Amino acid sequence: MIRVNRVKGTANVIALQLLDEYGMFYQPNDDAICPCCGKFMRGPVSRHAKSRWVAGYVCSQCGLMEALEDAGLLDAVPLSEWAYVRDWRNGHSWLWF
Ligand SMILES: [Zn+2]
Repeated sequence: MIRVNRVKGTANVIALQLLDEYGMFYQPNDDAICPCCGKFMRGPVSRHAKSRWVAGYVCSQCGLMEALEDAGLLDAVPLSEWAYVRDWRNGHSWLWF
């Protein structure tokens, strides 16, 4: 499976867990932030792209990049380098309670 191939190494396994948790439980249904690039996604997330790699949605541009990565036309950005994971690593949580 593609998803398994993409998640090599401990950093990416941890990143996948973080991203899945965010997408499944914390990503807002409206006006969310793309966990890949960190850009604001105006309107319902269902207008944007369902991620091929993680639970939840990414912006249309990152969705296109995922498709090109999936087709082998682009090198995949490691999950550990996604904006959500970088911010988490730097102590900046996206979760507001
Ligand atoms: Zn994005």
